[in-house]
Amino acid sequence: MYQHVDNEGKAIPLRPSKAVCVGQNYVAHMQEMGGAPVKQAVLFNKPPSAFVSFDNGVAIPTGLGAVHYELELALLISKPLKNASKAELNDAVWGYAVALDLTLRDLQLELKQRGHPWERAKAFDHSCVLSAFKPITCLSELDDVSLQLKQNGEIKQQGSTQQMIRTIEMLLIEASQCFSLQAGDVLLTGTPAGVGPLVAGDKLVLTVADIELETEVVTSE
Ligand code: ZN
Repeated sequence: MYQHVDNEGKAIPLRPSKAVCVGQNYVAHMQEMGGAPVKQAVLFNKPPSAFVSFDNGVAIPTGLGAVHYELELALLISKPLKNASKAELNDAVWGYAVALDLTLRDLQLELKQRGHPWERAKAFDHSCVLSAFKPITCLSELDDVSLQLKQNGEIKQQGSTQQMIRTIEMLLIEASQCFSLQAGDVLLTGTPAGVGPLVAGDKLVLTVADIELETEVVTSE
């Protein structure tokens, strides 16, 4: 059973309930997906069954078309937020982690074309892979967090939260207007450009701020 853990491997006493995710929050990624700026953030949720750690590598489903990586900064919410004001955000984030928002890209494109919801492509079991969380106090600047994904030694994604269309503050406020955020929820803040397919055997090096981890892609049973 998945539990949020801190960087010393200890369980964090916040129950994982959902991930609130934002699509196309980095200009260059929006462009590579053929998107255009929108007035409202593109928000979607992943259920608790989507959470998994990196302990057994990154397991990808087979037979469902391309499975894309999306490297993201994840934030762990530590108190309820509903229609949050700026002031309420002060002590609302426990910490930050490396996340992979796994996406069944072929299926997502098909669903988009049909005007159908994305859940099948975005909310499947173990589609939200999370590292241990570091306390937010270890992060000096939320609006300039660097992100890098290397696949088999090659840099595929490189960005900074500076390139976000909506800042983390804006995302928390807007998300809390759509869904009550609960302690234990995770906010995925979007992915920089350079998304692409994963293949079993791939070696990944993921870096978000001062968290770096190496992992391998495997197929899920
Ligand atoms: Zn994403």
